[in-house]
Amino acid sequence: MGGENREAFLKFENVKKSYDQKNLVVKDFTLDVKEGEFLTLLGPSGSGKSTVLMMLAGFEGVTSGDISILGTSITKTAPYKRNIGVVFQNYALFPHMTISENLGYPLSVRKMPKEQIKERVAKYLKLIEMEEFGGRYPGQLSGGQKQRVALSRALIFEPTMILMDEPLGALDKKLREQMQYEITRLHKKLGFTVVYVTHDQTEALSMSDRIAVFNDGVVQQCDAPAVLYERPSNAFVADFIGENNFIPGKVGRIENGIADVKPSDGGSIKAQAADGIGENDNCIVSIRPEKLFIQPTEHAYDNELTAVFESRYYVGDFIRYQFKLPDGTEINIKVLNDLAAPDFDEGQEGTLVWQEKDCFAYPV
Ligand code: ADP
Ligand code: MG
Repeated sequence: MGGENREAFLKFENVKKSYDQKNLVVKDFTLDVKEGEFLTLLGPSGSGKSTVLMMLAGFEGVTSGDISILGTSITKTAPYKRNIGVVFQNYALFPHMTISENLGYPLSVRKMPKEQIKERVAKYLKLIEMEEFGGRYPGQLSGGQKQRVALSRALIFEPTMILMDEPLGALDKKLREQMQYEITRLHKKLGFTVVYVTHDQTEALSMSDRIAVFNDGVVQQCDAPAVLYERPSNAFVADFIGENNFIPGKVGRIENGIADVKPSDGGSIKAQAADGIGENDNCIVSIRPEKLFIQPTEHAYDNELTAVFESRYYVGDFIRYQFKLPDGTEINIKVLNDLAAPDFDEGQEGTLVWQEKDCFAYPV
């Protein structure tokens, strides 16, 4: 009955992939995707993201495990029978066909009557606000326009799911942002399920309902963007998403999920104990540059460390500071430009403060 309890739309169960019968590039992938969800696979190059997408599209077989849609296995289903739209980085429009012919192609392959194709093409040209471009050839369009047509062509046969592999990788920053907005708008309007691949964390954070962070063929964490950023479950995710400072230390007592960490320079840090950390373990404590403050401040903070000032950079919307701890650990701090951003002399000491809720102790 309840939406939360319904069967997953798309299910990966213990999916493994090897290209050479030896090394697994996807190690044991298990994930449920809800209907209408925007799921992103994010990770460094070579981490197995495209391989997962290829197996879902049916262009690569699974080595073991199963992929199913609404409870029916699709691992043996031919790609064109999976009813999945695909968009890649290289636009792959047919150069000798007009834009309208390109858009109509997936429909004529599916034997839709000519009149209906005409109507549908008009509708999908309008959807991407390119009504007047139907008669042009791909060579007469800009990169961004071509990618909008590619997107429209993947959607035009109204698949239940659409896969995109770094679709904006070839576009410059401004066009990328426009297209991110365009894809999000179409997703909201039409409600299809998306599995999106990118190595760009900003893109992933701004577009997705959930992000699966990959490293070396293994999902490190799969959560909503804010959860990934605010509560990374391990040091890889803490380092890969956004920026972080890492302070080495040793865990003393852990009480109510809060670890008392002794940094190598002495003193004490209160940090949230991440999964897998125990008393007397070596650890690293993570704290994001924008969660650190330089005293004096208006508020009280749980943690403080003394550090030596090294440099201060003006970056426009914020000021970036670099401090060094006595053991040599570099600490980066971002202070919003509209707050009082203090000046220091080189070598001068400063007191850095932060909340325990913003820092985590991870096993090393
Ligand atoms: P990503 O998309 O995250 O960059 P891929 O899924 O493309 O990663 O690649 C994962 C690993 O599999 C890499 O080591 C890559 O070299 C290897 N790989 C990808 N495609 C093939 C292929 N067709 N044949 C052999 N190895 C491949
Ligand atoms: Mg890839």
